[in-house]
Amino acid sequence: MKSWNETDIIVVGAGHAGCEAALAIARMGLSVWLYTLNVDTIGLMPCNPSIGGIGKGHLVKEIDALGGEMGAAADKSCIQYKLLGISKGPAVRGSRMQCDRLDYSAAMRTAVEAQENILIRQEMVDSLVIKDAKCRGVVERTGYEVTAGSVILATGTFLDGTIHVGPVNYKAGRAGEFPSISLARQLRDLGLPSGRFKTGTPPRIKRSSIDFSVMSEDTGDLKVIPFSMRTVSINRPVKSCFKTRTSAATHEFVTKHLRKSSLYSGAIQGKPARYCPSLEDKIARFPERGSHPVVAEPEGLNTTEIYLKGLGNSLPADLQYELLHTVPGLEAVEIVRPAYAIEYDFVDPRCLKLSLETKLVANLYLAGQINGTSGYEEAAAQGLMAGINAALKLKEQEPMILDRSEAYIGVMIDDLVTRGVLEPYRMFTSRAEHRLLLREDNADERLVKKGASIGLLSSDTLRIVEERQKDLKNHLNQLNEIRIKPSAELNDLVISRGGSEMREAMSAAKFLKRPEIRFADLERLGFWENEKIDEKLQSQIEIELKYEGYIKRQKREAEQFVRLEKVRIPEDFDYESVPGLSRELKERLGSTRPHSIGHVSRVSGVTPAAVTAIMVMIRSAQARV
Ligand code: FAD
Repeated sequence: MKSWNETDIIVVGAGHAGCEAALAIARMGLSVWLYTLNVDTIGLMPCNPSIGGIGKGHLVKEIDALGGEMGAAADKSCIQYKLLGISKGPAVRGSRMQCDRLDYSAAMRTAVEAQENILIRQEMVDSLVIKDAKCRGVVERTGYEVTAGSVILATGTFLDGTIHVGPVNYKAGRAGEFPSISLARQLRDLGLPSGRFKTGTPPRIKRSSIDFSVMSEDTGDLKVIPFSMRTVSINRPVKSCFKTRTSAATHEFVTKHLRKSSLYSGAIQGKPARYCPSLEDKIARFPERGSHPVVAEPEGLNTTEIYLKGLGNSLPADLQYELLHTVPGLEAVEIVRPAYAIEYDFVDPRCLKLSLETKLVANLYLAGQINGTSGYEEAAAQGLMAGINAALKLKEQEPMILDRSEAYIGVMIDDLVTRGVLEPYRMFTSRAEHRLLLREDNADERLVKKGASIGLLSSDTLRIVEERQKDLKNHLNQLNEIRIKPSAELNDLVISRGGSEMREAMSAAKFLKRPEIRFADLERLGFWENEKIDEKLQSQIEIELKYEGYIKRQKREAEQFVRLEKVRIPEDFDYESVPGLSRELKERLGSTRPHSIGHVSRVSGVTPAAVTAIMVMIRSAQARV
């Protein structure tokens, strides 16, 4: 029986990382205290009211396939859906949902509150309790001490956070929230390597003050595909977004007042993300571009606040008004919340193991923005993995490490831990080597078994996914059996779609490989008379056939990758004993402590000769045992 101030695991932070971590731990049967500075901000989206996008949508599907919550919460709050990157091929396609910010938060809070084993606690955690290089609990601001087997820090932008608006700056975790100062100090004192990053958010404006007549409306896709396997369908009201662009006057204004922006006045030292620049940055760095897109996005169904994507800045509050008034459609807008930038501490993720536990302090895990990432999805994915691994460790089981060939989550964590971050890290599909294998549509196939093996998904879910896999295989076999002969009708069809004439009979599978042919054509032309197949399966059949050659090649590459990942390196391996390695490389490998030969090869500066030398040492050590 635990005493009142004791729990299995403590999670500090109830944002995107913290909620996933707590839910995973509790669903794995352990007790957890989930700390937040404000219960009303659980699962809050402090920036864009949307979930997913290219690369990020892949992460959400993977979180869902492992038994996480983000996809289901997005489905419950969706107000517009779009499948992005359709023209770029199946690997890149990513789902994006515009969400009602309050509904998203409410869905996440409900999930956390309804979950047995979680105690939500509104209190500032001031410090960690560390004894013998092991984390054993936390101390709240009141001095109250709580003991736990592990602690996960998911503190977002709160560590020594400083908000900047033009010349004004003040300490805060986010607008209107306390910063986490003493915890930041303790992490630095502990010797965890850290740095400063910067992010920012655009102004929110009053809907009735916008002139929509000069903007173009975007209603999103008619067909809404849920993120979660558990969502049967989404029948929620849809809200449009509206597009406009910055004008010549906008650029002139920003250029004239550049030095008044906190980013250009020298007030901000933290590194911003290159891929997500503020308006000042876009105008200063790309002067040749005469205009930049702006999207007015609704923040929800029952609010009149509008988020202005593309207009993030750190200009003084009065200048923000003048700035917005230079944008067509925004000439008379009224600002509800001014834009601001925030600087915060992050911890260099190279100090983490792949399980997200710190190497320096056992039983201390870090997840989310604290590890130098940016974005809700990146945070949620890390939170889920930190939660799973902290729970597994307490149960004296091996950590769950996803590798680069099986999940974007694996790619992200491997990138963070091996290469570290020079700017806030976000997911792009280009970061994955085997991206045709890591599609949104097959996330369940890739990961459900793992989620079920640790109790995060039911055996029913696993059975359903396995049956679909069998169906896919069967249908591909059936398509190989069906023969299609050339005919005038068929040739008219393929030529009208830009294809080449069909001269000889072929299997339906081969016919479907043609880029101009879709599965629905086979049904319409009467070649497919077997059972009806749903759209998701149809699309998977098409991908398997049309990209067969590429998929086979990537599978071969992935197998080779996995072979190298399987050559494990003992944690206490002595790099000093490897002949021919430079001093610098010995030090880098000694501090990175790669877990496998594959991992060694990704450490920067490692040459093929160095890999071979380490491999030889490991093989000879194994031979001696
Ligand atoms: P958060 O969601 O920030 O949650 C942190 C949690 O920790 C909160 O619950 C807080 O109460 C709690 N907490 C902190 N310290 C303590 C403590 N000592 N004791 C108890 N509880 C504590 N991402 C993008 O992808 N694009 C953007 O353009 C973008 N812009 C942003 C702009 C702003 C102004 C901000 C604030 C964030 C922005 N983000 C952006 C980042 C995005 O919000 C985060 O990546 C994401 O929310 C991080 O999730 P997290 O779980 O790590 O932390």
